[in-house]
Amino acid sequence: MKQYLKHDEWKIIEENFHPEYNEITESVFSLGNGRMGQRGGFEETYTGKTLQGNYVAGVYYPDKTRVGWWKNGYPEYFAKVLNAANWVGLEIQIDDQIIDLHTAKVHEFYRELNMKDGLLYRKCKIELKDGKIISIHSTRLNSMADDESGAYSFTLIAENFNSQHVQVNCFIDGDISNKDSNYGEKFWEEIKTGFGENSSYVWSKTLKTGFEVYTGQQIVVKLNQQIQTTSPEKISQAKYTGLKYNFSLQQGDELCIQKFAVNLSSENHKPSSFESIGATYLNRISQKGFDQMVREQSQAWGKKWSINDIIIEGDIAAQQGIRFNIFQLNQTYTGEDERLNIGPKGFTGEKYGGSTYWDTEAYCVPFYLATAPQKVAKNLLIYRWKQLDRAIENAEKLGFSKGAALYPMVTMNGEECHNEWEITFEEIHRNGAIAYAIKDYVDYTGDRKHLVDYGWEVLVGIARFWAQRVNWSEDKQKYVMLGVTGPNEYENNVNNNWYTNYIATWCLKYTLEVQQEILKEFPTDAAIKIGDTNFTDAEVKVFQHIIANMYFPKDDKKGIYLQQDGFLDKELIPVKDIPSSQRPINQNWSWDRILRSCYIKQADVLQGIYFFEEDFTKEEIERNFDFYEPLTVHESSLSPCVHSILAAKLGKEEKSYEFYNRAARLDLDDYNNDTEDGCHITSMAGTWMSIVKGFGGMKVKNNQLHFRPFLPSHWNSYSFKINFRETQLEVIVNKQGTNINILEGPKIEVIIEN
Ligand code: BGC
Repeated sequence: MKQYLKHDEWKIIEENFHPEYNEITESVFSLGNGRMGQRGGFEETYTGKTLQGNYVAGVYYPDKTRVGWWKNGYPEYFAKVLNAANWVGLEIQIDDQIIDLHTAKVHEFYRELNMKDGLLYRKCKIELKDGKIISIHSTRLNSMADDESGAYSFTLIAENFNSQHVQVNCFIDGDISNKDSNYGEKFWEEIKTGFGENSSYVWSKTLKTGFEVYTGQQIVVKLNQQIQTTSPEKISQAKYTGLKYNFSLQQGDELCIQKFAVNLSSENHKPSSFESIGATYLNRISQKGFDQMVREQSQAWGKKWSINDIIIEGDIAAQQGIRFNIFQLNQTYTGEDERLNIGPKGFTGEKYGGSTYWDTEAYCVPFYLATAPQKVAKNLLIYRWKQLDRAIENAEKLGFSKGAALYPMVTMNGEECHNEWEITFEEIHRNGAIAYAIKDYVDYTGDRKHLVDYGWEVLVGIARFWAQRVNWSEDKQKYVMLGVTGPNEYENNVNNNWYTNYIATWCLKYTLEVQQEILKEFPTDAAIKIGDTNFTDAEVKVFQHIIANMYFPKDDKKGIYLQQDGFLDKELIPVKDIPSSQRPINQNWSWDRILRSCYIKQADVLQGIYFFEEDFTKEEIERNFDFYEPLTVHESSLSPCVHSILAAKLGKEEKSYEFYNRAARLDLDDYNNDTEDGCHITSMAGTWMSIVKGFGGMKVKNNQLHFRPFLPSHWNSYSFKINFRETQLEVIVNKQGTNINILEGPKIEVIIEN
């Protein structure tokens, strides 16, 4: 755990430079706008620890996997969103010295991510080896208003020197490779580079997938506020263009470089129009000017915050934590494009390849449902609907048939493409989360037509998979499910993972329910859709038999569900007894030791209890919570939020708050020692849930919103806003009680439970 970032309600602040944590800071200070994003590295040269990362949504590469002993059914490739051309590039040389905070003496340093306005700001004073002192002020944004563009303004002040030889090279470097490339290969080839007056571009194409990206820059240079008209030298190298300017600086001079940049992708434009669209775009935003872009950025963020913000009074660390989570979620996914999804690291790093995981359905959908227009969550569902054929193919590759669909654990285009085959291969539980999200969406929005238009086909595919994946055990006289990995990835290839068996059975039940309901509500359309899927009465009977005869491992003495067969054979030593020097265990123990230990990476039985809370009594929930939580190491970022919500339900308010804090500040405090790989974007939605569903106790039952709020003792109050159908509500919880106000839309009745 690290605590070098200053607490503030709206800003993330690094006072004094921490080069040892620079890659962590770069992850935390990342910028994005749903279409493109980048890590928060410096504009100018930096030769210390850094990962320059620029990502363009939807542009990926199928990197060959590293599986050694190939077996049938393994995915052929690991898709990754590509680190793309670096548009911020800036090299400044004064006499013979290059400005580089790694080699310069840093006298003053301040960096902030202003979440209210979506701006990354830095000021510092540095001394070069020859004694020249320079101040730098820079502001950068990835525009929310113009989502294919970014810009920065970088001002340099000559504090104590004159120099005849100041060279500024503003460049775009497209010769980029991914840090996580499996075989150290590069994935981009150049199509073309070119120049305008004060502009240049690099146009590249990905190998194999053939995505084309045009990255352009337009430069405006001001000396002491006067725009300079000098023409730059044009530097052209492979996949690289630079514009080099020469200046003389007198002591006290202020040199300001403004860079306007655009990223166009062949996903959104015809490559043959790249050059003309790029030039017009750059012209438009540079004419608009940097200050206007900042104003528009601030307005766009203002609009988001007006429906997304959670206000916590009396705890700045918690306030900063939740705003950081909401900020990053909005930077990652805006819901404008149903071809896009939410990578576990968003645009903040390369781990997990930017692919789609079950995280989207299990964690992110509830956030977007309540804080964004309905189409945003719907687009996430349509993404899977569009990939149904691929899910059926995935299942066929594993030997399933007759329309059984197995959605991938990791995907970019619907095809399974994970790298960690030994863990991920059998994590078939993800299929359940995809069905669960359909129910979540329909219950929340009331959009029942969705069930006929999209839901049914997905549900029946998933249900068919489960019906074929179980087998009848003569010994148990029950259906069992063998060789799976549950959400707890610290157990692989186990039999009868309770969570998987439970969600599989629920999918079968829900599919049959939906069949009946849509036939009643939309008879004509439903008859056609159901007919199209060739769903037969014989299948109904099979589903019903499985539902009635599924095996769920449990221990009657302890009154708990068993994570899997044989779980109680393990040595049950609570996590608190593991020496702290050995935590996190995944960085200290062999995989063998982890697998045979009792330690649980993330909610597993408790994930099921969280999803299907209404199916269990409070006593049952409590017994399972008290048994499993002490064995849980929470080494997945997805873990603390589920525990926070369940603890809230059980009235364990302090515990619920502890888990919330851990979830909310996971990246800000680098709890799991892995933020340098990128921020945990998908679990950030879980943090939001800890407040809204945990402390606020929000849920939807029979078309009605219910709350069961409590106020953590450390706080004076908290408030959040949510959309529910046509209505926007504000929920304020303080020491006096709970107030719920309608901000917009028709009146609705809500229930506050005790
Ligand atoms: C978790 C998975 C999750 C993945 C991506 C893993 O560490 O165990 O449940 O889907 O990260 O966030």
